[in-house]
Amino acid sequence: MSSITVPPPKCLQKTFVAPRRHMFGPGPSNVPPRILAAGAEPIIGHMHPEMLEIMSDIKSGIQYAFQTQNNMTIAVSGTGHTAMECAIFNAVEPGEGVLTAVNGIWGERAAEMAERIGARVNSIVTTAGGYFTSEEIDRALAKHKPVLFFLTHGESSTGVVHPLDGIGDICHKHNCLFLVDCVASMGGAPLHMDKQGMKGGAPLHMDKQGIDILYSGSQKVLNAPPGTAPISFSERACQKVFNRKTKPVSFFLDMTWLANYWGCDGKPARIYHHTAPVSAFYSLRESLAILAEQGLENSWQRHKEVAEYFHEGLENMGLKLFVKDKNARLPTVTTIVAPPGYDWKEITSYIMKNHNLEISGGLGPSVGQVLRVGLMGGNSSKASVDMVLEALRDALRYCHKSKV
Ligand code: PMP
Repeated sequence: MSSITVPPPKCLQKTFVAPRRHMFGPGPSNVPPRILAAGAEPIIGHMHPEMLEIMSDIKSGIQYAFQTQNNMTIAVSGTGHTAMECAIFNAVEPGEGVLTAVNGIWGERAAEMAERIGARVNSIVTTAGGYFTSEEIDRALAKHKPVLFFLTHGESSTGVVHPLDGIGDICHKHNCLFLVDCVASMGGAPLHMDKQGMKGGAPLHMDKQGIDILYSGSQKVLNAPPGTAPISFSERACQKVFNRKTKPVSFFLDMTWLANYWGCDGKPARIYHHTAPVSAFYSLRESLAILAEQGLENSWQRHKEVAEYFHEGLENMGLKLFVKDKNARLPTVTTIVAPPGYDWKEITSYIMKNHNLEISGGLGPSVGQVLRVGLMGGNSSKASVDMVLEALRDALRYCHKSKV
């Protein structure tokens, strides 16, 4: 008699084949064959010398993508949220102040994470689709005196790219660390606004813009599978992170351990901390190699041109862009005002069913208000734009008819 009471599941007898889809939502994006192939290479030990070399390559690739010389640059084993928690959990101690800029869901989430570790959290809030002036940020920092200020560069829930110039200096004037989320913008957001003119200015550049902690994700412009997240800490951030009175609440995300694991602490021996997601690191390395081959500036330029082509096509169809200010539109994730009279869910399902193409609805404060289309990395091409426009045209024809 078998002691097994739960039989082997029948569903697992079926051969698994993942559907082929155009991943044009806000992420994950399509993973090109070269990156998939890298992830299919044989597993080696997470402490083998070849793996340590791969980690070192990843570190260099992230330094390039972030434009930073920071030694404390690693990839966290986990998604964008893991990097978010890594930043906040390491930089903030219970009772310390955090200020988050909320112009979409990510500032809300950062506030919740900081609250969970017992920080004193304040937020500045603006409407979905908006952003903050340097003066507003300056005033809020003076009032709340936080140790950390959180800002999202590419607000994927609202489609806004936030100005960065000058904010690092303002934070430092107030003795505060500047934490920036670039999950949805890294490698894809060339536009950046200055205080005066909202003109296209300096691109994302960690060191020049005085960003103290910057993190991203693997599954957007990098086109790697979800599950690894680049993060980097400035010297100023390290001073705070490595001189804490209390240990960070998370062992897994403790930068003292991770710094050693990534060979960033200058110690001769690396101590086992966790088993790195070996295949995911292969893929991440390959994705960073592709970005380096293409060149960051070319990638910014392509995303900009493709976004402009897309936005023009949408307006020609009579659709409206959610972000009114042209220069504040995120080139990677476009938010389209949900067409009046339509059920946005019907549009996204119709497009998935008939065009095998993912676009999505809103998130957080933009739910019900927008459709979101992400064209990132290899997906950022005029051919992809044409495909999305055709799918939308078709959906508007069909979904409208079904409602009348
Ligand atoms: N920040 C931004 C701006 C994002 O777009 C996302 C992913 N949509 C995240 C953070 C969280 O990343 P993940 O889903 O990989 O945890």
